Amino acid sequence: MKIALIAHDKKKTDIIEIAKKYKDVLAAHELYATGTTGTLIMGETGLSIHRMKSGPMGGDQQIGAMLANGELHLIIFLRDPLTAQPHEPDVSALLRLCDVQSIPLATNVSSAVIMLESLQNGIYFNA
Ligand code: PGA
Repeated sequence: MKIALIAHDKKKTDIIEIAKKYKDVLAAHELYATGTTGTLIMGETGLSIHRMKSGPMGGDQQIGAMLANGELHLIIFLRDPLTAQPHEPDVSALLRLCDVQSIPLATNVSSAVIMLESLQNGIYFNA
């Protein structure tokens, strides 16, 4: 399964913690991430990740293009709902495409944990 990992700046610590905790689950899949998120997770976990551009520089749109092409199967995007993002239109477009394609999308830690537990236990699978 192809999984994308994205986190706004104030959520990067959270996504690193999740990636550490579920490293073995994630390692069984093909991982994609926006630039900074991917660099941080790789550095902290050793996971192999295809990195796009940084989110504000078009990385969210690159992930969105993959979604539109049916090339991603699960998204963890830890959003910061309390900070204005310069690339909010790109973020909204990505979230919308998840719904268009009916792709599982976690936008906070609790949802991400449920998704990863489902993967770990073989409850959810795709492709
Ligand atoms: P980043 O992008 O991983 O390059 O910081 C994430 C985002 O803000 O969309």
